[in-house]
Amino acid sequence: MKRRSFVAAGLAALATASLRSRRACGTAASADLNAVGLEGTPLVLKGADIDELRSALRGELLGAAQAGYDQARRLWNPAFDRHPALIARCLGAADVKRAVSFAAAHGLLTAVRGGGHSFGGQSGCDGGLVIDLSPMRAVEIDPLTRRARVGGGALLANLDREAQGFGLATPAGVVADTGVAGLTLGGGIGRLGRKFGLSCDNLLGAEVITADGRWRRVSAAENPDLLWGLRGGAGNFGVVTEFIFGLHEVGPLYGGTLSFPFDAGARALLKGYTEFMAGAPDELYVGADIDSDEKGQRLMELDVSYYGTAQDAERVIAPLRKLGKPHEDSLAVASYVKLQGSDDAPGFSHQAIYLKGGLVKDMTPEFIDTVVGCLESTRLESVDLGFQPVAGAIGRVKPHDTAFWNRAASYSMHLLGMWKPDADRDTVERNKEWVRSSFARLEPLTHGRYVNITSGDDHDSHLSAAYGDNYPRLAALKKHYDPGNLFRLNANIKPA
Ligand SMILES: Cc1cc2nc3c(=O)[nH]c(=O)nc-3n(C[C@H](O)[C@H](O)[C@H](O)COP(=O)(O)OP(=O)(O)OC[C@H]3O[C@@H](n4cnc5c(N)ncnc54)[C@H](O)[C@@H]3O)c2cc1C
Repeated sequence: MKRRSFVAAGLAALATASLRSRRACGTAASADLNAVGLEGTPLVLKGADIDELRSALRGELLGAAQAGYDQARRLWNPAFDRHPALIARCLGAADVKRAVSFAAAHGLLTAVRGGGHSFGGQSGCDGGLVIDLSPMRAVEIDPLTRRARVGGGALLANLDREAQGFGLATPAGVVADTGVAGLTLGGGIGRLGRKFGLSCDNLLGAEVITADGRWRRVSAAENPDLLWGLRGGAGNFGVVTEFIFGLHEVGPLYGGTLSFPFDAGARALLKGYTEFMAGAPDELYVGADIDSDEKGQRLMELDVSYYGTAQDAERVIAPLRKLGKPHEDSLAVASYVKLQGSDDAPGFSHQAIYLKGGLVKDMTPEFIDTVVGCLESTRLESVDLGFQPVAGAIGRVKPHDTAFWNRAASYSMHLLGMWKPDADRDTVERNKEWVRSSFARLEPLTHGRYVNITSGDDHDSHLSAAYGDNYPRLAALKKHYDPGNLFRLNANIKPA
């Protein structure tokens, strides 16, 4: 049965009413609902069970018949138009606990949503339950212990703004409307990473609801195995209702955009960028994106931020400015919140995106030739090939010390194609095809994968490239905390 018709059929089905639930909700009893189980097989949820869950939650339980369902099921990437059977809009850990227990008891396909920014749409599902933490965005800063308590649905903007109120920050991604949860659980590469490590390296503790419905506190002292797994093992081990991060003093940075026309000097620009980064101090982050501006001109756009004084920054960055005649140079002293874009966090992408990526150790001449070849193979203005620098403090953590295995990389690379949600099939395919074929050329020159940079349609081999030698330990941990693989819509580790 097709998705839309089975949702409609579910609504049409009749159910026995639960008087208790009817009273609690003040609404008509729910009908039985056709849904999808963990293995993708159809199942029927009893209306009475749905009403019982609804009346137990503090937050809303939305089905297709309820107002707000279409807004709540929307994901950041419009390439994914998922229709869950139910969405539990959780207001606290108790709601999450009830939703997890309901999903486990019914063997229901389950998606967990933090910021909703998964490139592969993994925080939504068709016919299952979405445990939606987006109402849980509270952030509390303790400036004395320099710790942040962050709700499982918070966006980077929420964390950055609150922490910066105290002159503090923890490493996060570079786009403010990304979710703290998915980003941290997969790793978390950003402006402060070379100085202070990945987001997951700064994770000191958490509160988690595991697949058995139990609430667990996680820290170096309590459930330390789980803390190890949360640091890069993606959403495999439970739903994190609260994160605890260590914070660092972060004053104004020096940064902005420095861009150069790309096509005239493509190889020289990439060579200059990578030679510069090889000698750059940990205080400096320079992301590079090769994309097209509104006039169709291809640019290499450098996203620069320096943790230190403007005087030092000017000196350190001087060679970068000499890479060519800048198209734009907006480098200046700026607050961390401004550089993160935290004042302007839109929440949804207006373009659908298909993406692949890998980790890169050295930008060798062969690698640079291949990058340039991939870009020269298309005139599509909707594609982007970019690099986020890692190394520094990220590279100084040992691969076994956290679930995040790949510590020897210099860059995280991404290739993406974009299209308007109403684009024709040919446009969609041309964008996807460029990403697939270009990545096929580049992948042999990469060293590992990053679980957060994927559209979710990769072969399972990408998991071994991401988790490396940590995989057997992760699989054992998965077996302990989630033997039935309830949390499977992620960079999924199969229970050992
Ligand atoms: C615009 C944009 C910019 C980005 N920039 C960066 C960047 O600079 N650096 C970087 O490292 N990555 C970056 N990413 C990738 C980003 O790290 C991933 O997309 C990440 O998954 C987003 O987390 P989320 O909570 O928003 O996602 P969601 O879609 O909500 O979830 C992603 C995954 O995490 C799981 N999950 C979510 N919340 C929880 C929870 N509370 N408990 C357990 N599991 C949970 C989900 O089930 C899903 O598998 C970017 C992505 C986007 C869209």
